[in-house]
Amino acid sequence: MEKINRRTFNIKLTQAMAGAALLSNIPLSYGLNSGKQDKKLGIALVGLGGYSGGQLAPALLKAEHCYLAGIVTGTPSKEKEWMDKYSISKENVYNYENFDEIAKNKAIDIVYVVLPNSMHAEFCIRAAKAGKHVITEKPMAVSVAECDAIIKACNDAGVKLGVGYRMQTDPYTNEIKRLVAEKPMGEVQYISSDAGFVSANNPTQWRLNKTLSGGGALMDMGVYAIQSSIYGAGANPVSIAAQEFKTRPDYFVGVDESITAQMKFSNNVVGNMFTSYNANANRLFVSFRRGWAELNPCHSYGPLSGRTSRGEEIKFPYERHYQQTIQMDSFAKHVLTGSTNFAPGEMGKRDIIIVEAIYKSIKEGGKTIPLDLGDMGIVKV
Ligand code: NDP
Repeated sequence: MEKINRRTFNIKLTQAMAGAALLSNIPLSYGLNSGKQDKKLGIALVGLGGYSGGQLAPALLKAEHCYLAGIVTGTPSKEKEWMDKYSISKENVYNYENFDEIAKNKAIDIVYVVLPNSMHAEFCIRAAKAGKHVITEKPMAVSVAECDAIIKACNDAGVKLGVGYRMQTDPYTNEIKRLVAEKPMGEVQYISSDAGFVSANNPTQWRLNKTLSGGGALMDMGVYAIQSSIYGAGANPVSIAAQEFKTRPDYFVGVDESITAQMKFSNNVVGNMFTSYNANANRLFVSFRRGWAELNPCHSYGPLSGRTSRGEEIKFPYERHYQQTIQMDSFAKHVLTGSTNFAPGEMGKRDIIIVEAIYKSIKEGGKTIPLDLGDMGIVKV
């Protein structure tokens, strides 16, 4: 790991704040540059794996309303490495056993759970009971019952809850939401959304272990396709039918490899979604009455790319980790000022209701499953 000492940390922070200023070209509603706060909230990352180390920690160096104050890890060797790299003091370092002591630590305002999916519920509930605001990575949990338990724990403790849906504060997503809401090309009639990548040569990873992951491609990448289907349609689905395809049963044991699903939405839009651990796919297509818009790539860390049938390019400034910086700043601002929570717990729960309906449809031979979601999880931008 690159060593960041106090001096280079400050230089990097200054550069990072300049980067945040660059991002201030992005409209106000995308999270940054929307009113300076004196207090920066302390975030503790729980689980120091690929996403925490590769994206969230560097993104926090650039954040305006929050910073990396603490870590929770089950790997003792990571403690010193992270303390040195991010100037974290020893009293802000926890493991999974002594984690509940975080309740006494005033430096930690928000606990961000970045563990394998089936561990989200336990650590979100323990964080809420410790009186900390909670962000949980996607998928929110591995069942609707677990989502309910997380929401209840946060409500009981009077703490805020957000899901790590970085796309909900991404300017590309918000441009699609604008086109859908303002209708310059008319009403949406059809959407198609794909999210997948090729998983190979690592059969023992937790993502392929149903106990830890809760499912395969659908749990991991399918939630992106569900999310973009909904903001692309501008409404929740009222029914869904799904099919599963498995071409490598020896590698995908007990978890899904590829799934397609057809949806009808409450505003009569129809749509297809596809998710896979065996095909690269990263796209949203929205067909309007008088044209179309497309994002491809759509769900990755960027740079993203978009266009419309009118020859317009959808383009926003890019710098590394911008999605995570905006997402965490937006949540911190929500905690500090009561501003909009763009990815609340109800949104995470709604998506798991849809995940469960997809698995039910597959189990029942592709039967159409009705959904009664109303406007659950729809956040107006
Ligand atoms: P990794 O496998 O890279 O890291 C997971 C970390 O969890 C480990 O390094 C370890 O941290 C901890 N851990 C605790 N118990 C276990 C266990 N039994 N098996 C494996 N790890 C364990 O996963 P990711 O960082 O890629 O994913 C973590 C979460 O973040 C998932 O829910 C995933 O869906 C989500 N994610 C979200 C992304 C997004 O774009 N929003 C992108 C990537 C992931 P330690 O050693 O510190 O204990």
